Amino acid sequence: MLFVSINMNYKISRRAAALSPSLTLAIDSKAKQMKAEGQDVVGFGAGEPDFDTPQHIKDAAAKALAAGFTKYTPAAGIPELRQAIADKHKRDNNLTYKPSQIIVSCGGKHSCYNVIIATCEEGDEVIIPAPYWLSYPEMVKLAGATPVIVQTTDRTEFKLTPEALRQAITPKTRLLVLNSPSNPTGTVYTPEEIKALGDICVEKGVLIMSDEIYEHLLYDGATHRSVASFSPAHLEHTIIVHGFAKAWSMTGWRLGWCAAPEPIAKAIDAIQSHSTSNPTSFAQKGAVAALTGPQDHLKTWLAEFDKRRLFAWKKLNSIPGISCVNAKGAFYLFPNISRTGLKSTEFCARLLESEKVAAVPGIAFGADDYIRLSYATSLANIEKGLERLERFCRTLVR
Ligand SMILES: *Cc1c(COP(=O)(O)O)cnc(C)c1O
Repeated sequence: MLFVSINMNYKISRRAAALSPSLTLAIDSKAKQMKAEGQDVVGFGAGEPDFDTPQHIKDAAAKALAAGFTKYTPAAGIPELRQAIADKHKRDNNLTYKPSQIIVSCGGKHSCYNVIIATCEEGDEVIIPAPYWLSYPEMVKLAGATPVIVQTTDRTEFKLTPEALRQAITPKTRLLVLNSPSNPTGTVYTPEEIKALGDICVEKGVLIMSDEIYEHLLYDGATHRSVASFSPAHLEHTIIVHGFAKAWSMTGWRLGWCAAPEPIAKAIDAIQSHSTSNPTSFAQKGAVAALTGPQDHLKTWLAEFDKRRLFAWKKLNSIPGISCVNAKGAFYLFPNISRTGLKSTEFCARLLESEKVAAVPGIAFGADDYIRLSYATSLANIEKGLERLERFCRTLVR
């Protein structure tokens, strides 16, 4: 036997090499390490509700597991769940989908990825308003397409205007990504604003990926209206992405879905059948219970989120150097830190170092003058964390 030592050249594919690793992870791992060392860290980084999954959902999954519902299901999900999702869209959005237009995937993130991979390729442009959920541009790059970032600011409540959308559209534009209510800003577009953007996409033949995962997390009387719901043409141009993570607090279950025009749903079904296959069988039974069972948990959660949101928003605007537009959805605030003179990465690193408060730098979402604070943590934590933030800002601004 002859062993030859080879200097392996682990060539990373162009697509994978083009990805930026998540910027949020550096701060997150530092915060976790500090906590593990016994330091009193206040975390505003959470991207998930701090409530447990409602009991009846867990019971339904446990029952399915005990009954041996542990084998492959159809790649696109069990018929019962696809029907329950179609019913949900009828009930909540007045949208008519056949179950064959619904594809259940391993999380809303997976659904976004499938949609982009199924519709975009080299030479295509995808319009993404910033601040954006950090995975969208990376997914577009993985598909070989080009993200076209359109910057918005707190002066327009982080809303993409019809004029800015028109300017960004070229003959190469394939897809517009909308996310209302928004992560990271909490912005909720009004029905009129959503319609105006949808009208332009219909006129120009641009598809819309509408990420509606925060649909039910609304405050101050804000309403959610799906862009798909304005006309049959809007429906034909829209792919809705949704999931169980946020409104049912099922982040670890890895279950989401998309509702798409038939040919796109078919393509995604094929992609999924050769990549992940079905999402976890017994988890899907829990998801059926989530959609068909009682929804009273949401009222309690929303009341709690709302209390925290109002407290945090008022407090933030009293801190020197900080200004914050009020969020009307999701569970994030996105304060402007530009008057402190620091950019977001340095701001968050120093805040963590000196005051043991973890926040996510806005640059991760394409907006370096801001930080993201999640209020999916107790009011007591929020009070403590914002006191520390104030003390920190007073060292920067007077
Ligand atoms: C949380 C989230 C998702 C989906 O999360 P999953 O855990 O994959 O279901 C999708 N879009 C946005 C904007 C989110 O914040």
